[in-house]
Amino acid sequence: MSLPLSGKIALITGAGSGIGRAACRLLNREGATIIVADRNVEAARQVANSLNGDNQFIELDVSSKQSIQNGIQSIVSKFNAPPSIVVNAAGIIKDNFILKLEEDQFDDVIRVNLKGTFLMMQNCANAMVEKNIVNGTIINLGSIASKIGNIGQANYTSSKAGVEAMTKTASREFGKFGIRVNCVLPGFINTPMTESVPEKVKDYMTMQCPLRRFGNPEEVAEVIAFLASDKSSYVNGASIEVTGGI
Ligand code: NAP
Repeated sequence: MSLPLSGKIALITGAGSGIGRAACRLLNREGATIIVADRNVEAARQVANSLNGDNQFIELDVSSKQSIQNGIQSIVSKFNAPPSIVVNAAGIIKDNFILKLEEDQFDDVIRVNLKGTFLMMQNCANAMVEKNIVNGTIINLGSIASKIGNIGQANYTSSKAGVEAMTKTASREFGKFGIRVNCVLPGFINTPMTESVPEKVKDYMTMQCPLRRFGNPEEVAEVIAFLASDKSSYVNGASIEVTGGI
């Protein structure tokens, strides 16, 4: 029996850690060949080595157009096709209250989270169109933080609101090429990104969640896998919350 993602190439950014890594593992179990992309190349190598089949790890900085284009070129040379599944999971936080937020803390988060998602979508969709991929799917990681307006995260919440809005625009522009674009909005998920949150704040966040717990990266990966597969063939421009009900 063939698996749902057999024969597909999936490029996953931020793949060395957390949600990106969980997505690599699940999409690989579902049959996809995985391009494990991260700016932390050692983490990417370790994830790629833990997968089955002919996968690839690449050093890729989503905030650099050149780095993305080099990555796509290396995939096309190896597999003779660009990825038809793209998961934009690279992301950073640099928290501070607005009254204290430095300009570079603001710019860094916007550059990686928002501009990085734009550059990835633009370059990957161009490669898909050029190679006549007609069933592409792009999955962007937004955040429920953009809807709540988390304190201390003005840079992050605005970057993620931008990702969600840009997902809608991209879904309208790319639809005619057969490329779907959707957004996943996780709540509080147990990954290195949330590890440094003080226990008091974690307790408060847990109480905000009807399920009274943080989610696991695998629970977000399940929704990513759905959006990557043909099971979601008529889902486009959507934002799916994975928050335990926040
Ligand atoms: P994570 O564990 O910190 O993993 C993020 C990965 O992205 C890291 O390996 C990181 O490398 C990499 N990265 C950072 N900047 C990059 C760049 N410029 N180019 C390529 N890779 C880069 O985070 P996560 O929790 O899995 O988050 C994944 C996505 O989900 C992010 O977009 C995040 O905003 C979003 N999200 C997370 C949560 C949550 O509660 N965890 C909630 C909502 C949304 P370094 O280690 O070198 O920085």
